[in-house]
Amino acid sequence: MIPLVKSYLPPKKVLMKRLEDVLYSGYIAQGEAVDQFENDFSKFIGNKYCLSVNSGSSALHIALILCGVKEGDEVISTPITAEPTNTVIAQTGAKIVWGDIDMKTGNLCPKDVESKITKKTKAIMAVAYAGMPIDIKRFKEIEKKYKIPVIEDAAHALGASYKKQKLGNHFNFTIFSFQAIKHLTTIDGGMLFLANKKQYEKAKLIRWFGLDKNKTRFKNNISVQGYKYHMNNINATVGSVQLKYFDKILGAYIDNGKYFDHALKNIDGLELMEYYDYSEPSYWLYTMKVKKRARFIKMMESNGIMASPLHKRNDVHSIFKQSKTNLPNVDSFNKEWVHIPCGWWVAHKDRKFIADTIKKGW
Ligand SMILES: *Cc1c(COP(=O)(O)O)cnc(C)c1O
Repeated sequence: MIPLVKSYLPPKKVLMKRLEDVLYSGYIAQGEAVDQFENDFSKFIGNKYCLSVNSGSSALHIALILCGVKEGDEVISTPITAEPTNTVIAQTGAKIVWGDIDMKTGNLCPKDVESKITKKTKAIMAVAYAGMPIDIKRFKEIEKKYKIPVIEDAAHALGASYKKQKLGNHFNFTIFSFQAIKHLTTIDGGMLFLANKKQYEKAKLIRWFGLDKNKTRFKNNISVQGYKYHMNNINATVGSVQLKYFDKILGAYIDNGKYFDHALKNIDGLELMEYYDYSEPSYWLYTMKVKKRARFIKMMESNGIMASPLHKRNDVHSIFKQSKTNLPNVDSFNKEWVHIPCGWWVAHKDRKFIADTIKKGW
């Protein structure tokens, strides 16, 4: 079966040598290897306000804290995402207000978001779902007009760009995840990108119990609530080695995605996604809408190709029942969306086989 997701790890000889060195160095907590990875990664994205953490969820939590989100506030978010996007909002005690999606992309609809802004809205959580940038132009306008920060959950969209600049440069808060099945894994980990030094310094304190690592324990005075969210030298070492191979890995996702954009045009019962102007997706999953989805999935599976919607719409979880609202576009999208494999493990012959199989019908 060609899987939908698969973890890439660098060649054993290279990675194990580096891991052995750090594991037995006597220093495995947050140290030089973490600084190195942050440096390497911030260069890759092109933004120096880059803070490593132990998960994408931790990065989201810090972003929400910096937006001042507290119990009783509202955060507008999308149900078309992986659960952590929304469980982390719940963690702050804020109420989630569901925005509907743009049918053409599956991402949060700026117009619907705008109609749901109230005095209580403290942040907008927008997910670059499956690797496709959100409507950056419109969300930047909303951010400016209402002075409500957008948190860009780019856990699926490492390497995606807008106007030739990678995600991580467009909003005050962008997060990435290095969890096992994402584009780049450090086994587990995450990154938070910020827009200025002040926010960066605050985020750094929150990452480490509220303690300032530049002062001794005895000179420290904890004045903000912090958490144990830092990355350690082991995960960071995996990250730095991964980055050396990443252009090739990312390139394979994008090349396969573009191949499907062409090869799957004009097929009966199949609708491709659209991308916003100047957006370059990084195709973590290849998303499309199909009629008779159950039959499509069965047909693909009988040909050894995994196809699935992967995520359950988040608004149906009972923990979010107070937020229940009518989302006609999500309802309709939810009947037809499906992903097909498009990552680094999908070879040229595989992608041709996938396209040919779909063209035969279901
Ligand atoms: C994976 C993921 C996260 C959280 O990442 P972790 O590193 O697993 O905490 C957040 N948002 C989305 C959309 C994700 O897919």
